[in-house]
Amino acid sequence: MVRVRFAPSPTGYLHVGNARTALFNYLFASKNFGRFIIRIEDTDTERSKKEYEESIIEDLKWLGLSWDEGPDVGGPFGPYRQTERLHLYREYSSRLLSEGKAYRCWCTKEEIEKRHLSRHQQDSGYDNYCRNLSDSQIARFEAEGRTPVIRFRVPEKKVVVNDIIRGPVTFEAGTLNDFVIMKSNNIPTFHFAVVIDDLTMQITHVIRGEDHLSNTPKHILIFEALGYNPPEFAHMSMTLGPDRTRLSKRHGATSVRQYREKGYLAEAMFNYLALLGWSSKNNQEIFSKQQLIEEFSLQACNKSNAIFDPAKLLWLNTLYLRSKPSSEIFELSIPFFEKTGYNKSDLEQHRKVIEKVIDVEKEKLKTLQDVQERTGYFISETILWNPEVAEKFKNPEFAKIFSEIRDILNAVQPFEKSHIEAAIRNFCETKNLKTGEVFHPLRFVLSGQTKGPGLFDLIELLGKQRCIKRIENFLGLKRHNL
Ligand code: GLU
Repeated sequence: MVRVRFAPSPTGYLHVGNARTALFNYLFASKNFGRFIIRIEDTDTERSKKEYEESIIEDLKWLGLSWDEGPDVGGPFGPYRQTERLHLYREYSSRLLSEGKAYRCWCTKEEIEKRHLSRHQQDSGYDNYCRNLSDSQIARFEAEGRTPVIRFRVPEKKVVVNDIIRGPVTFEAGTLNDFVIMKSNNIPTFHFAVVIDDLTMQITHVIRGEDHLSNTPKHILIFEALGYNPPEFAHMSMTLGPDRTRLSKRHGATSVRQYREKGYLAEAMFNYLALLGWSSKNNQEIFSKQQLIEEFSLQACNKSNAIFDPAKLLWLNTLYLRSKPSSEIFELSIPFFEKTGYNKSDLEQHRKVIEKVIDVEKEKLKTLQDVQERTGYFISETILWNPEVAEKFKNPEFAKIFSEIRDILNAVQPFEKSHIEAAIRNFCETKNLKTGEVFHPLRFVLSGQTKGPGLFDLIELLGKQRCIKRIENFLGLKRHNL
């Protein structure tokens, strides 16, 4: 049975590149009726934070992923946090030590560095100094009170990674020094923990970023030393910014959370991430989750790096948003209203109006944040007029026009678009006013906006009382006899 894992380090919010790795694992597992596992790689205790773990799990769920085993759901191969699995790494490292496949090393960083400099060689790092120490040398180090690390004894052989995406990648013998598997504090290094976990969790396919390809020979050698076949590997191309450098904060939003907070939809994000480094045979771009599961294959992943294109993501988001019924858009946008001070019960009260405005404005919505921006002023008690624009309409002629329109609106019966339109056009005609001279200022007074739905839609949706109140507030009049 296929078993794959996504193994985030909880040192920050979920990066879109990592979300893509999680997504590909999920698609691969789903397509092959396998298991998808979440494992938290938190051995870097200084940088790992519980809140990041929680946010990563939350964002993965938001994205629409689900898993069979993980720190939150448990499972038969747990625990699923590396800091809770330390006994396993200790057990396996002891085994390698007793079989002579690993050894203790007492060298300090400074000593290694000094010897390296004196060798004047191109090679990097450790010179395998402690590989064959005599008992007396060991006794001397121990007497000095040094605490050793454990290093893996790298065999002199070439390693071929048969990567599903990249094909065979050969690493010649002699390119690796004996590397540390257990640090002096008895905590495993990344390389060791990842192998012991993949082994004991019976992972069949390791699907991860290409940045780990150069680590893979180390991992394969540890598997072999323990007498196991390594899993299959698939290293996905990296995610780059539009300038072809690694996607980072410089490029703007890079975490799933940021996009979520900007009002992107999970379905759009899901669809977009699937296209980052993978494409279907016929270059189709819009996919449901189910279609992606059916179509996805690791073999069809691109070897070249993927460019993260925020404009394309926004385009997809717009399409997904438009395809939703207004009632769902309303529900999804409640948190965005709340962020700007609206409360939920007020919103519920105005649900009908907001949904109608969403209907009218749907083609213009790009994110859920837009929903609040484009509909909030329909229900707010007060509006703020831009003083510079307002200044143009603060004169006796406009005051007269607005107060007459107030009386006209008060009299319109029923308060529907066609009647409102007829009444206002009639007013313009009898007063010999061009419609433009009246419509634009009126929109501004009623909404504080210069754009929005058609003026008569706007008036109907605002409702009689709100229109009258806003005109009066603008004119500085008190409300009376209404
Ligand atoms: N924890 C590693 C990372 O976040 C993943 C290691 C792996 O997938 O093997 O890069």
